[in-house]
Amino acid sequence: MFNNLTERLETAFKNIKGEARVTDLNIANTIKDIRRALIDADVNYKIAKEFTDKVKDKAVGSKVINSISPGQLMVKIVQDELTELMGGNEAVFNITGNPAIILIAGLQGSGKTTFSGKLANYLKTKKAKTPLLVAADIYRPAAIDQLMVLGEQIGVDVYSERENTNAIEIVQNAIKEAKSKNRNVVIIDTAGRLAIDEVMMNEVAGIKAAVQPHEILFVVDSMTGQDAVNTAKAFNEKLDFSGVVLTKLDGDTRGGAALSIKYIVDKPIKFVSSGEKLDTLDVFYPDRMAQRILGMGDITTLVEKAQAQFDEAEARKLEKKIRKNQFDFQDFMEQLQQIKKMGNIKDLLGMIPGMGKAMKDIDISDDAFKGVEAMISSMTPFERANPDVISQGRRQRIAKGAGKTIDEVNAFMKQFDQMKQMMKMMNKMPTGKMPGMRR
Ligand code: GDP
Repeated sequence: MFNNLTERLETAFKNIKGEARVTDLNIANTIKDIRRALIDADVNYKIAKEFTDKVKDKAVGSKVINSISPGQLMVKIVQDELTELMGGNEAVFNITGNPAIILIAGLQGSGKTTFSGKLANYLKTKKAKTPLLVAADIYRPAAIDQLMVLGEQIGVDVYSERENTNAIEIVQNAIKEAKSKNRNVVIIDTAGRLAIDEVMMNEVAGIKAAVQPHEILFVVDSMTGQDAVNTAKAFNEKLDFSGVVLTKLDGDTRGGAALSIKYIVDKPIKFVSSGEKLDTLDVFYPDRMAQRILGMGDITTLVEKAQAQFDEAEARKLEKKIRKNQFDFQDFMEQLQQIKKMGNIKDLLGMIPGMGKAMKDIDISDDAFKGVEAMISSMTPFERANPDVISQGRRQRIAKGAGKTIDEVNAFMKQFDQMKQMMKMMNKMPTGKMPGMRR
């Protein structure tokens, strides 16, 4: 995510690294480089200029503290300003109504329907809500079908009226239905057009006036950069929405939309969405995003994702097995599944400081574990539970079953063995730590 911007900012900071103090003169190049980096990331000139003016004022005006080098000081100032530019604090998402009504608007293809599904899933699984999805697109029957499919995947009902051509009526009926069936959140997926269009805008505005939503979320494809910002402006003038959703952050986005939107429409980004998997919706935290842009990773999100995924009791059971040296292929497979559920692998690795940069040219897809999974799947339950019995003959069979060569199976078995040796060694340490590791 935003790799180019991250790299350019790092280069900008290098210019000032060796300096003993910050002065107007020695900071000039760094400031210029930061501004160029922002403009190249598709941030508009005015925002980039104001941003760097602020950074400069703060840097020159700040007291020199002995323990902080000018380089570190600049990084800190830029980090604070990026956070501020993207909204400062986490925004409130209002789901207190009963039912809470959430209107989703945006251009066709921005990711509205996918987001509606992700949001319903998030509210159901993370917030213990009982959502109802509403298909309010009266122009494209396929849009209703798409929402139906998503609803089925996440186990959330979808309200639609295929014969009705009055979107306001559909929405009003849906709310009645939600009340009668005790659904406490109604998520309305509206019709979008390929470009801004008067009829579409009036329709969404009409729904807004009729049902007074608690939240109006404007969904925008972050890959579209400055266009995203212009569309946001037009929608905001008509709808006065309450928050922005940035989608497709998994793509090759430069960062312009994320960095400019709050400034232009003065509405917070509330969610970001990366990937088409329905369980990968993230609440937007400006400070964490600033850290990621600066190549510092985002350990907080990574830990939260892990905590959400890993069951405490399961974790203890696993620990016991490791302690008793009973970790087997079945456990290995289960761990892989858990990690995969946490989200896109490259995205996860990018949350480890420095890792995003190291990995930027490496293509890691979610299929990265497929080979390993295929090998474990080709083992019998007995073999999985007793790795020691896997002889050469059995390996031949596993290789064939998994579509791998015998060398690949041997290499994997060796790695697994080394992993177990490592676990054994850790178990022998009084502190449970690796040899050579500091307490
Ligand atoms: P809508 O027309 O606004 O409802 O947009 P859709 O939800 O149908 O999304 C348009 C296309 O973008 C579909 O092919 C989605 O699978 C894809 N899409 C949606 N959100 C994301 C995302 O966060 N990342 C990626 N890579 N693709 C997405």
